[in-house]
Amino acid sequence: MGFLFYAFKSGKLAEVARNGLLIIDKRASLGAGKLGDYVNVTGNSVAKSFLACLEHERFDEVFGDIREYNELHRKLAADPDGAPLLSEVGELLTLAAERLIAHLVEHFDVDVLRGHEIDAIRHNRDGRFEIAYHDTRRPAARRMVISDTVVMNLGGTQRVEEVDDLCRTLDIPLPGNGVITCTSDELLRLTSTQLVDTFAPVFAPAAARRTNRITIIGGSHSAFTMTERLATDLGGAGLDEIAIIHRSPIRLFFETEEEARAWGYMVDPVNDICPITRRVNRSSGLRYRAFEIACSVMSQGRVAGTKPRVELIDAASGESERARAATCLTQSCGVVHSAGYGPNMSALVDHRGAEIPLLFRQGGIEVDKFGRPLDMNGKVVRGLFTFGLGSGFRPDPEIGSEAAFTGRIHGVWIFHHEIGKRILTGVLKALAEKAVAQEAEMIATADEDTHAGGRPRRGRADHRR
Ligand SMILES: Cc1cc2nc3c(=O)[nH]c(=O)nc-3n(C[C@H](O)[C@H](O)[C@H](O)COP(=O)(O)OP(=O)(O)OC[C@H]3O[C@@H](n4cnc5c(N)ncnc54)[C@H](O)[C@@H]3O)c2cc1C
Repeated sequence: MGFLFYAFKSGKLAEVARNGLLIIDKRASLGAGKLGDYVNVTGNSVAKSFLACLEHERFDEVFGDIREYNELHRKLAADPDGAPLLSEVGELLTLAAERLIAHLVEHFDVDVLRGHEIDAIRHNRDGRFEIAYHDTRRPAARRMVISDTVVMNLGGTQRVEEVDDLCRTLDIPLPGNGVITCTSDELLRLTSTQLVDTFAPVFAPAAARRTNRITIIGGSHSAFTMTERLATDLGGAGLDEIAIIHRSPIRLFFETEEEARAWGYMVDPVNDICPITRRVNRSSGLRYRAFEIACSVMSQGRVAGTKPRVELIDAASGESERARAATCLTQSCGVVHSAGYGPNMSALVDHRGAEIPLLFRQGGIEVDKFGRPLDMNGKVVRGLFTFGLGSGFRPDPEIGSEAAFTGRIHGVWIFHHEIGKRILTGVLKALAEKAVAQEAEMIATADEDTHAGGRPRRGRADHRR
């Protein structure tokens, strides 16, 4: 949506869709992705960042009325500096996206396949992409479309099998049999009742005098959000303790250096401050609700107002901490992977059907300045663009960020602004190159036919789908 919204507001949609544009998603309703599925999770962006994605004079004719009449929009606008619930953000983004999509379908050569899941994207010998997909209600009926250019944003994945790798990296034992292992991504989408139903069966009764502990691996926004959900929903169901095992210092976000110093936070002016915004830990710092949870854990050893004790363990800070992490993990009845996302990219295969291994570094797929992924040899996959969870751009002089941050930049606002712009530039460039190549091919074919005395053949049929 960041790309589509950007293409529309910059007046380039007609150019992007001049040979047809197809939107495919396995969901029935579009616009929010997974963001709208998280239950009781407060965003790490403020309301005005999300609302800014819906502001442009070109949007007025499409969904300008949302700004005036929609309750949810009004609610977010009334507290622009507050962090909203992601479920509400998802609802608003869906509303705007669906309105924009309806407008695009009506005015441009745009089609939508909702409820259709992509099985594989094959990069064929002539550089085009064969997209194999099926209707989620009829999985056996496979179909295929061909496209010159693909913007592939399938989101990120957290796989439960990665828990073992995380433990090996931390040099602590793997969870034993009978321990519930899961990902924060799955758990954050459960209701309170579902969370209780998941863990209550493995909690020992109070009389058994055993500590019911859940270990969370990770130290970012998701890890602290997960901590709050577990403490709040399972405190009354038998959970005694939460251990958060992380391997780099917990960083906090501040709007200014002065604010950080007044708060008593140590700031490294070279590594912690974004040169563009002057914010402290702009990308890596915990914000808003996650900030409050972390502070409460650091000062009181629990999430304020909840029962379970919470222990923070920096497993990379020394042997005693590593040993403590090992003990906690061994004595846990649940282990939650909350250590970032990998790309949902296994769908990309070469002309023989073998997976194209892409260069994965520092929290995401490596991409060039237009968002084109690099393969293992550092070669760009032409015609393919990707951003979003699990892939994405690293900080650079235009995007900014603190020097200490080496991960990827994810955020709805930046998808709709700088990143949307880069993808649009790349897509238009790819389409222009394709058009030149096709024209040259048609001229060459016509020349050949003329020399052979025959009638010129038609150029390649429909290059669109
Ligand atoms: C817990 C959490 C909180 C976050 N909070 C914020 C926040 O407050 N502010 C912020 O700016 N960012 C936040 N982010 C980061 C990120 O900006 C959002 O998660 C963002 O919505 C990610 O978008 P995405 O497109 O990468 O992935 P997704 O939202 O997962 O979208 C992927 C889409 O691809 C579709 N799809 C997947 N596989 C297939 C397939 N095979 N075939 C067809 N369709 C498919 C899915 O149906 C989905 O619609 C948060 C992330 C997490 C995990």
